[in-house]
Amino acid sequence: MIQTIAAIATPAAAGGISVIRISGEDAFLVADRVFRARNGKLLLGRNGYTATYGDIYFHNEKIDEAIATVFNAPHSYTGENVVELSCHGGLYLTQEVLRAVLENGARMAEPGEFTKRAFLNGKINLSQAESVMELISAQGKEALRAANAQLSGALSKQISSVKEELLKLAAHLSAWVDYPEEEIPEVDEDEILSSTGNALMKLEHLLSQFDTGKLIREGIDTVIVGKPNVGKSTLMNLLSRCERSIVTDIAGTTRDIVEETVRLGDLILRVSDTAGIRETTDTVEQIGISLAKQRMEQAALVLAVFDGSTKWSSEDEMILSAGEQTSVAVINKSDLPIITDAERIAQVFEHVVVLSANDPSSLNVLEREIRLALNLSGVDPFAPMLLNERQRICTQRAASSLKQVICEVKNGMTFDAVTVLIEDAIDALMEITGEKVTDAVVDSVFSNFCVGK
Ligand code: GDP
Repeated sequence: MIQTIAAIATPAAAGGISVIRISGEDAFLVADRVFRARNGKLLLGRNGYTATYGDIYFHNEKIDEAIATVFNAPHSYTGENVVELSCHGGLYLTQEVLRAVLENGARMAEPGEFTKRAFLNGKINLSQAESVMELISAQGKEALRAANAQLSGALSKQISSVKEELLKLAAHLSAWVDYPEEEIPEVDEDEILSSTGNALMKLEHLLSQFDTGKLIREGIDTVIVGKPNVGKSTLMNLLSRCERSIVTDIAGTTRDIVEETVRLGDLILRVSDTAGIRETTDTVEQIGISLAKQRMEQAALVLAVFDGSTKWSSEDEMILSAGEQTSVAVINKSDLPIITDAERIAQVFEHVVVLSANDPSSLNVLEREIRLALNLSGVDPFAPMLLNERQRICTQRAASSLKQVICEVKNGMTFDAVTVLIEDAIDALMEITGEKVTDAVVDSVFSNFCVGK
């Protein structure tokens, strides 16, 4: 039996309003036991999408005033009967309302169970359910756009079109192999190669965009390096617009790594400001420097900062190794006369900006250069995009089956063996959308959700 479930759908914090969501066949019955409408009518039998003013009772005591919003199956988020009780946003109060609901016939929802029911009831497919999570965790405009595009079905449509093409081919091949006596037109190798090649191209394009999509969604793992006093902390503060790092003009003041997620225009940067890299005998500082070097190697982007107002030094020379990675050289202190060796920097770094970390307008210049360095300029956030490792692995599996098809057809493999490979690819694609997926996979997808979603 599918039970009626309930959870607090709003964050566990005091606020203006909190919402307790109840979903399942008995949602109205449960709600009617705790909610008394001021007009004396029951919620059961009300039209969907209507709101009713009333009071919440727990053990016969009124505990709050609330609005009950009613959704009739299948026209709700979960596809089931749903009541949402909007009460005052007190932390204890909200928990009491939930307790009242749970004592009156609902059970506590598991993490992601509302969205899981939406999936099981065919309201959304699995990749769309995953984009709900992306939508909630989006931290920047492009991440939000990408999540919305996938929720609207950009990825599902692309996957379905590839799947349809392969299904047509597999059906033709099976018919031809299984009913040789029928007058089924012969399948020629060119047809297999062209259909498979076309499908493979679309999948490979999705795979090639995965890392870029990840940068947009999860933020760019960025590290700021440079010798002491070039303005790394000032740049970090400009990015985060607060005094997080300690800015002083005594060399070697930033010894630990300061990490912060900042928004640069439409991009999200997860920035670490590191100890200045230089030769030193101070052991604590040496630890900081070796940490900085390690972080630099792991980062997706290095911002290598140079002080434009001082002469080139052997310490600057040490920073040039950053040029081997995806990086932008920042020649800082452009408000002062530039006397550093800008040519030397330009020889090593493909991307160089001259700016002042004291000037907020520098942020635009920096964003533009970072986009160029990471090839983000041409990225369309509305395009189909793989959102997570699960989707990537399935796509990879489908692509490698198709590669094998192409290889085997060229080697003269029998068509029934080729059909098996095409069917493997179709299965992998159906796992992305959840059309063919094990309970274990479904459970693991939804276990990453928060309670109440
Ligand atoms: P860090 O050691 O690399 O983190 O350098 P800091 O951010 O602590 O900066 C060192 C000094 O340079 C401080 O006195 C800053 O105020 C100064 N500074 C940083 N950026 C600029 C800039 O764009 N122009 C000028 N004139 N001074 C700056």
